[in-house]
Amino acid sequence: MRWQGRRKSDNVEDRRGISGRGLAVGGGLGGLIIVALYLLLGGNPDQITQNLRPGGETSPAAAGQPLSEKDKELGDFVSVVLADTEDVWRSTLSEGGQQYREPSLVLFTDQVQSACGYAGAATGPFYCPGDEKLYLDLSFFDEMQIKLGAPGDFALAYVIAHEVGHHVQNQLGIMDQVMSQRGRVSEREFNQLQVRLELQADFLAGVWAHYARQAAGYLEQGDIEEGLNAASAVGDDRIQRQQQGYVVPDAFTHGTSEQRVRWFKKGLETGDINQGDTFNADIL
Ligand SMILES: [Zn+2]
Repeated sequence: MRWQGRRKSDNVEDRRGISGRGLAVGGGLGGLIIVALYLLLGGNPDQITQNLRPGGETSPAAAGQPLSEKDKELGDFVSVVLADTEDVWRSTLSEGGQQYREPSLVLFTDQVQSACGYAGAATGPFYCPGDEKLYLDLSFFDEMQIKLGAPGDFALAYVIAHEVGHHVQNQLGIMDQVMSQRGRVSEREFNQLQVRLELQADFLAGVWAHYARQAAGYLEQGDIEEGLNAASAVGDDRIQRQQQGYVVPDAFTHGTSEQRVRWFKKGLETGDINQGDTFNADIL
């Protein structure tokens, strides 16, 4: 992506290099909202509890260290992508008479406190509806490149656009509707709803990509392929196979690789928010 020189967002909170030690564990786990735990990596939501280290040690490399040039550049890149999503969603939602509430994006190292509780870097990127913030540890970017085989700056942009997609779902009330079904439907059915919510976030990431592609000189050859590859790399089936060697469809929370790619592509090709009703789609 040729992102240098584009507008940067004012909504990035850079908490990298700040130790999470000593922060109060406000609300405890009871305050956790499960939506925040939609782990992009398809991990088990219970994982977050294992990552909670209230008052614990942070890795010595993290706290108080100045940011490297590479880290600074990554921060700038994230700001530019976030600004692009702001432009796209401001204009898209205003067509429907809504004013877009710009979310903040928190960059952190090791662990972070959100309105949804504590999270560690291993949680993966997440969106917390309680404070309307996106949380991103950039070590995840390395992980995508190395472990998941999804390199490229557009792959990271896709991740950000997916989390912003959750924010759009939150603003539109879709997230509340899904969460209100928790405990009312069977676990299996709720799981299905989660998958549809996730695939819609992929679709919304695709809508963003549709408009990014229209901006002259922004995307480069291969960028879209990087995004599609990333969407495929974080499919539940692929991750389950990697982690446990077999696939359990009922345990999916994000959709298969093929489904994630399909919905991202649909957003990319149409750029039309009305085409993204994953909840009433017969075929996911
Ligand atoms: Zn998600």
